[in-house]
Amino acid sequence: MALRKVVTKEDPILRKKSRVVEKFDDRLWELLDDMAETMVHAEGVGLAAPQVGILKRVVVMNVGDGLIELINPEIIFEEGEQFEDEGCLSLPSEYYQTKRPAVVKVKAQDRNGKWCVYKGEELKARCFCHEIDHLDGVLFVDRLSEEGQQQMTQTK
Ligand code: ZN
Repeated sequence: MALRKVVTKEDPILRKKSRVVEKFDDRLWELLDDMAETMVHAEGVGLAAPQVGILKRVVVMNVGDGLIELINPEIIFEEGEQFEDEGCLSLPSEYYQTKRPAVVKVKAQDRNGKWCVYKGEELKARCFCHEIDHLDGVLFVDRLSEEGQQQMTQTK
């Protein structure tokens, strides 16, 4: 395993769309292992492959209830709203209030290609949405609540 460099918001790769993973091989497993190590080292709760410079639909997350690996994830259900501060390892020291669904269900493949369904509420729901957005080039600052937009304007 090895630490990978986390890119920051100036890097145009963060605005690109990631490709679907088709091969569940050693290279994917190495990427997953490196991403998990990088996330722990950076004290993050989630990391998407574009953040380490790889345009593949791969996410790792751990909101305190164990490591989750998501390959080709899709949100299949969402309900309600929540407004909490979010941050991002690629936007260090920026924290603004963001609007997200209260509950989401996600369908994704595991490292062997098997489809699984996950449910998240509160932080976990936010994290699913935040990381899956990264795969489409979307950052949390694109999803700010009104209050969050004011927070950002005041900071800059
Ligand atoms: Zn992020």
